[in-house]
Amino acid sequence: MENGLVEISDPHFIVELMYAGTDHNMTGCPVYTELGLGNRALIRRELWQALQRLIPYLENTGRRMKIYDACRPVEAHNRLVGIIPRDGFFAPEASSSPHCRAAAVDVSLIGEDGRELIYPTLVDAYDPAYAREVQTGRFDNFFTYLKKASHAYRDENRPETVRNRDELRKLMEQAGLVPPPRLHEWWHYELPDGRSEKYPLIYMKDISKKA
Ligand SMILES: [Zn+2]
Repeated sequence: MENGLVEISDPHFIVELMYAGTDHNMTGCPVYTELGLGNRALIRRELWQALQRLIPYLENTGRRMKIYDACRPVEAHNRLVGIIPRDGFFAPEASSSPHCRAAAVDVSLIGEDGRELIYPTLVDAYDPAYAREVQTGRFDNFFTYLKKASHAYRDENRPETVRNRDELRKLMEQAGLVPPPRLHEWWHYELPDGRSEKYPLIYMKDISKKA
């Protein structure tokens, strides 16, 4: 693909981008589809090289990795911020999101039975009830719930959720990726230098439009 970007297209990975549809989307708006990106997970070649290191693990366990977000073009980021212009939700500037540099992915693991492993929250702390509140401009309950998305969160009652989160982190770190600096989203991994100018911001003009 153009500009050193790779489109994830591999049976070990399931691509269901949150912001391409409405089912698992805090904003309720299929921004990627409206802009013409569609359900295409584009990432830097270096990030794809890291994800490919997971394939032996995925084959041995019969698991697959689900990709919820990858490259988020600047126009898409700005539109998402415009829909939910609230601090602590989307990065206020596209330049501070490694997704806008195609250097980050949001992921979870899918078990052999086709069901997602259980984690302290769903990816993006998505919960339909909170999503509805967020879409009407109410954030308190969501931000309380979002605390469970932190790597620091412990849950004695549901130890498996924390174990799955920690195993995912170990796996991703072994592949050469890092969690976000504030460790506040268990599903987010990026290249160690993914926030740097080494990876320029991606605009829709940088990718061929094909929904
Ligand atoms: Zn992310």
